[in-house]
Amino acid sequence: MSSNKINAESIMNTYGRKDIVFEKGSGVWLYDESGNAYLDFVAGVAVNCLGHSHPEIVKAMQTQVANLVHVSNIYWTQAQIDLGDKLCAKSGLSSAFFCNSGTESLEAALKIGRKYGKTISKDKTKIVVLEKAFHGRTMGALSLTWNPKYKEPFGPLVDQISAVPLNDIKALTNMMDDDVCAIIMEPIQGEGGIYNSEKAFVESARALADQHDALLIFDEVQCGMARTGHLFAHQMYGVKPDVLCLAKGLGAGMPIGAVIVNERADVLVPGDHGSTFGGNPLACSAGNVVMDIVSKPAFLDHVKAISSYIKKALQTLDETHDFLKEIRGEGLILGVETKYKSADIIEKALGEELLLIGAGENTVRIIPPLVITEKEIDIFINKFEIVLNQLSA
Ligand code: PLP
Repeated sequence: MSSNKINAESIMNTYGRKDIVFEKGSGVWLYDESGNAYLDFVAGVAVNCLGHSHPEIVKAMQTQVANLVHVSNIYWTQAQIDLGDKLCAKSGLSSAFFCNSGTESLEAALKIGRKYGKTISKDKTKIVVLEKAFHGRTMGALSLTWNPKYKEPFGPLVDQISAVPLNDIKALTNMMDDDVCAIIMEPIQGEGGIYNSEKAFVESARALADQHDALLIFDEVQCGMARTGHLFAHQMYGVKPDVLCLAKGLGAGMPIGAVIVNERADVLVPGDHGSTFGGNPLACSAGNVVMDIVSKPAFLDHVKAISSYIKKALQTLDETHDFLKEIRGEGLILGVETKYKSADIIEKALGEELLLIGAGENTVRIIPPLVITEKEIDIFINKFEIVLNQLSA
């Protein structure tokens, strides 16, 4: 592991960074300047779904760069039309807006929710979100995010937003009235600690949204794009949203976000919203490759099988190391809650050239590239065992 202290004063101090400079990546491995290989269980925070330097992404990017990188959204590109078609066909929704990130997809969804409400009544502006939710860092998305620590320095934020506890049907029912224009939720909460929505709660959210003529908006920025072993996380509940937010894995590393709506939520008209870069042909070409690969049933089966393999391996490790409190999540968005502090696990793992990220004080997130193999999981388990031995010593 490289141990140079990085002192990059020209970069704003917005991240608690590790002192590693990465130079290249291949599959589930990242290589630093000295050529040390790190097993990447962060995957750019659930972004690099196909691993690093996937040959089909490389080929598509090289071809697209040589042809056309960017053109204004006042014209069309086939790459954008194709990606829109694929997302609509697979989600059963009807039209897509492209942006550049997760937070931007939530901004668009928020505006769609408000505009939808106002077409019904001027007071239909209330939005219901969930405690522990994370929806992004721009002012609108931040207003939907729960963690007060992220919000307090930046208020006043967007108003008329109220949070209820996840899976509390009664609280959600009590919060709903005809002035609510949207319910916004992650089917599986990511940053908040990896918490699964219960089927009954998701079904109630759908029924209550219908009852009060509000939109049901799913933020699948982190849990979407095959990460659960289902192309879209909501498909495992059998509940369809009116608005679906995607980003992260959609571009496998190329910056892209999307909002996909059904006919009811298709309320934006020219002048309402836009993005200079959103849906440019380079990002959309990456999105097309991702969609072609991850929507195949065999790929989704692989994610499910690897998920079972890793859960079983962690449970076996627990028999001898007694570290595990709970495994939450689905597919390859897992939260492993242990008796140790996640910061300590992450630090020790780094020493073993294993990249991990936390989700709360005692939960480590398992969000590797979806193409990871059983052999690579075995390497992870070996490294993780060394970490556990160090922590218990
Ligand atoms: N929504 C969810 C569920 C997320 O996990 C994130 C990022 O972690 C965002 C929105 C914001 O996405 P981005 O960081 O691309 O703006």
